[in-house]
Amino acid sequence: MKDQTFEIKVGDLLNQVAVDEITFENKKTNLIPNLSEEWITGKIRLSWIDDENVLVEIEELECTLNETCDYCTKPFERKIKIQWYSSRFTLNKDEINYANDEVLFFIDEKTSTINIEEMIYQAIELETPFVLYCPECAKNHESMTEDEEIDESDFDLGWEWWNVVFHK
Ligand SMILES: [Zn+2]
Repeated sequence: MKDQTFEIKVGDLLNQVAVDEITFENKKTNLIPNLSEEWITGKIRLSWIDDENVLVEIEELECTLNETCDYCTKPFERKIKIQWYSSRFTLNKDEINYANDEVLFFIDEKTSTINIEEMIYQAIELETPFVLYCPECAKNHESMTEDEEIDESDFDLGWEWWNVVFHK
């Protein structure tokens, strides 16, 4: 059974200017049912902002998802590597979750803990493209896009536009 706890005590961090780094591996989450058996590994940095707020930064995160290609329906593995993702965790219940596009979570007041499971889920979700291609279909799709890019009519259009802007 894999460690499923994503809870981190931040009580000490709220009381002083400090930075804390946590490395984790073999983290399993039910929020992502198609995680491969390597589960999630990563590095998290926690930083004091003030006595009500903690900044949580994912500095490295890796996992593999078992996916199905939207194009050829074959199963394939999608490796995910996240270099950086951040969220703020706050004690202030009055703050609204959707202000300023900022990703905001709440600190559990009673236990002074944060749960980063939802944050990690969101970071991984952001890496999911609109259409999932297996490596083979992705390759085919890429060469198709390249052909479109050197299409001559596109080039002409661009040239005319350039003339209008700069020579009128
Ligand atoms: Zn495919």
